[in-house]
Amino acid sequence: MNQVFNLEQRLVENRKANLYRQRQIVEGPQGIEIQVDGQSFLNFSSNDYLGLANHPLLKQAMQQAVEHYGVGTGAAHLICGHSEAHHALEQELADWTGRERALLFSTGYMANLGVISALLSRSDAVFEDRLNHASLLDGGLLSGARFERYRHADCDDLQRRLDQSQANRKLVVTDAVFSMDGDIAPLQPLSRVCSQNNAWLMVDDAHGIGVLGQQGRGSLQLSGIDQQQAPVLMATLGKALGTFGAFVAGSEQFIEYLIQCARTYIYTTAMPAAIAEATRVSLELVQKEQWRRDRLTELITYFQSGLNQLGIQAPTSKTPIQPIILGDSERVLKMSNVLRDNGLWITAIRPPTVAKGTARLRVTLCSEHTEKHINRLLDCLNDNLQMLSSEVSG
Ligand SMILES: *Cc1c(COP(=O)(O)O)cnc(C)c1O
Repeated sequence: MNQVFNLEQRLVENRKANLYRQRQIVEGPQGIEIQVDGQSFLNFSSNDYLGLANHPLLKQAMQQAVEHYGVGTGAAHLICGHSEAHHALEQELADWTGRERALLFSTGYMANLGVISALLSRSDAVFEDRLNHASLLDGGLLSGARFERYRHADCDDLQRRLDQSQANRKLVVTDAVFSMDGDIAPLQPLSRVCSQNNAWLMVDDAHGIGVLGQQGRGSLQLSGIDQQQAPVLMATLGKALGTFGAFVAGSEQFIEYLIQCARTYIYTTAMPAAIAEATRVSLELVQKEQWRRDRLTELITYFQSGLNQLGIQAPTSKTPIQPIILGDSERVLKMSNVLRDNGLWITAIRPPTVAKGTARLRVTLCSEHTEKHINRLLDCLNDNLQMLSSEVSG
């Protein structure tokens, strides 16, 4: 029955290449400890960087909002699903990011598809960093524009490609913090290249928002880049903000354009209003509680110096994403299992999520971790140094 699509063969090939993925069933809330199979694990895999996903004030806000709004929104934003809660959150996100206006999307994936395909068509071109998130790459492909990938964080390569382009409109798209490496894009140089070449810059700050910059305003605030220099800011609410969904922020005119033209905005059900209310509370905490970011900074330094003491090359990343690259998928999978046997949860990240030969343990730190937790991880790595020894290989 599956002859035509050869599903069986593709599944077998995936398994043989150590690329088979399996879901694990989590039995309680998200946090630095998670329950799986009745067992508790110390979690170093979540994007809940500030420990807000299970925060009592967020839970309370969400429960109260459910009492007021109910659960479902019943329709898309343009029909009758746009609530007071959504509207207030949009205003607050715009103020926070220093932009004229913000627009909520139901997920970050949809925001990226919607924005890029609304801005571009066949006579245009999109230039993407090779290591951009899948949703940005898919948005570029969906738009039908000429699709180019420039070398990672390489403004010269980008400049050369822009020079040669005959396209009508040009959009340059980058992750602000690269999701699998944790490095920050050269945002100032990128914005200069864009303005010199009459291109727009779009920045996806999924991993920088809440974590970087004053009051967690993100990578653009940290790099001193305004709405003029990067007309498109997209960020998610499901990571540091601890809730769900995403937003795009920019000029009044740009946001109005998206409301008219972004198909993933128009043709989908609005996120539950209770999510928006919980996010409003989260946004307050993110701005007020600088200690969460200070803690992260301390823990990053602590982890990196611990790695160095073990003779493991520490990542250069200054963000909570601290990957340990082993290269080979099989070895990463084994290491991840050894860690799990020791009560540590660190998912093996393999191709195609990362390039071939760069499979890795993607360690993420959270403000709720303690030095003791990190010691447990370091000890376990130390006990298995031989599995970490040969760096990037075929
Ligand atoms: C997680 C992520 C997204 C997708 O956001 P969702 O809200 O999870 O759909 C987009 N871009 C980047 C860089 C991400 O890490």
